[in-house]
Amino acid sequence: MPQSAEKIKDHSTLFNEPEYQKLFENKKQFEGCHAQEVIDQQAAHINSWEYREKNFAREALVVNPAKACQPLGAVFAGAGFEKTLAFNHGSQGCTAYFRSHLTRHFKEPCSAVSTSMTEDAAVFGGLQNMIDGLNNAYHVYKPKMIAVSTTCIAEVIGDDLNAFIRNSREKGSIPQDFPVAYAHTPSFVGSHITGYDNMVKAVLSNFWEGKDRTAGTKINIIPGFDGYAVGNNRELKRILNEMEIEYTVISDVSDVFDTPTDGTFRMFDGGTKLADVEAGLNAKATIGLQKYCSDKSLEYAASKGQDVAAFHYPLGVGATDELLVKLSALTGKPIPASLELERGRLVDALADSNAWIHGKTFSVYGDPDFVYGMTRFLLEMGAEPIHLLATNGSKEWAAEMDTLLKSSPYGVKGQVWAGKDLWHLRSLLATEPSEFLIGNSYGKYLERDLGIPLIRLTFPIFDRHHHHRFPVLGYQGGLAVLRTILDKILDVLDVETAKTGISFDLVR
Ligand code: SF4
Repeated sequence: MPQSAEKIKDHSTLFNEPEYQKLFENKKQFEGCHAQEVIDQQAAHINSWEYREKNFAREALVVNPAKACQPLGAVFAGAGFEKTLAFNHGSQGCTAYFRSHLTRHFKEPCSAVSTSMTEDAAVFGGLQNMIDGLNNAYHVYKPKMIAVSTTCIAEVIGDDLNAFIRNSREKGSIPQDFPVAYAHTPSFVGSHITGYDNMVKAVLSNFWEGKDRTAGTKINIIPGFDGYAVGNNRELKRILNEMEIEYTVISDVSDVFDTPTDGTFRMFDGGTKLADVEAGLNAKATIGLQKYCSDKSLEYAASKGQDVAAFHYPLGVGATDELLVKLSALTGKPIPASLELERGRLVDALADSNAWIHGKTFSVYGDPDFVYGMTRFLLEMGAEPIHLLATNGSKEWAAEMDTLLKSSPYGVKGQVWAGKDLWHLRSLLATEPSEFLIGNSYGKYLERDLGIPLIRLTFPIFDRHHHHRFPVLGYQGGLAVLRTILDKILDVLDVETAKTGISFDLVR
């Protein structure tokens, strides 16, 4: 065997050894695999316009959606509060998926539990699972709050969280006054961003409902579902501190998904202090950094008398300007010279690199606010967006995107695709390609099949490490995004020019 204890080969080389190659060939024969010629014909067919039309005619089938289900967002949002245990009422497998999805991205343990509903609970209801689950979660993990969301099984049979949690209190599973925020998060509507919003609203209502508000001067900020939250939330707090603004980041996962290795396992670390959430009722305003992640939460904050404002993932110069101007207007605090300096440096960097980015074409997919923010920054750079796709994008989002594209001469080629999936995107890129693709790790299959270089800039990033630790929001984040895009453009250029030696230059 090629593998030995003395020289352990990685799977990527090991499986190229003749023994394994033979095994794979035998497997193909055993499975009655088509001849290579037939496979090649089919591969060429799915890149055609004819196939694109068939692909876009499908109605009842989704292939590789660029979204996840509601409770994933609820688990993420719930994890962002002090000593809070995310708790799914539903099946274990769903919770294992949420935990592994977040762990694979952040390379960090994600704590979440479930009521482990199985066939009997699906038939008779999951009340007993809730009573036992809350009892175990409270006594074993000793959280300060439990954030309950639902998976499909509980929603299909219509379990009532309010009644179940009240029952559990009566049975003594948890103390009467123990905070349990709960949100129904049916996966057959919306996506992880809806689940995020539902859970944030549930936490706010848990602490705010039935209380009187005394308007203060602090600002609440809801970051939204963000794979770059570790870097972005810290950057956001740095900006707010620079502006001397008093704030509460609602659901702050930056320390939760970035615990140090120092010999102590922290099941809970960081998160928004529950006392701050409670006091957040008195805030002057609540701001959502991602409109489509905070619709209901902002509506709720407005119903309490707060000012509210929503942004689209403030990436780049103009979007950061708007955020800072709004913060300044709400608080009366001026934008400090230090941030103006950062702005000037980003503009300078954009000017330095403009020749390489200007006129390059990009397609972008991901959550609606990310796609909006990224497109806006591309337009600022003089790049030309081509396909802009959000599986969880609504008609309202598509209209906003159209307006954005029309606002710039570089937006004329842009096509907006709301509700389409990555298999649609494959057809789009095969028939009307862009030079680059911006998205998450799932785009690597499009990169391989269509030869369009992928720039990883959004959740989830499973096959690269540590991206989430560096901010992409604000002026500083804009620099990081600019560098990431440029690196890919210049890497591709180096690979291409190395083939001929023409223009394989040291200075770019
Ligand atoms: S879609 Fe439903 S069954 Fe699938 S992971 Fe989400 S909650 Fe579970």
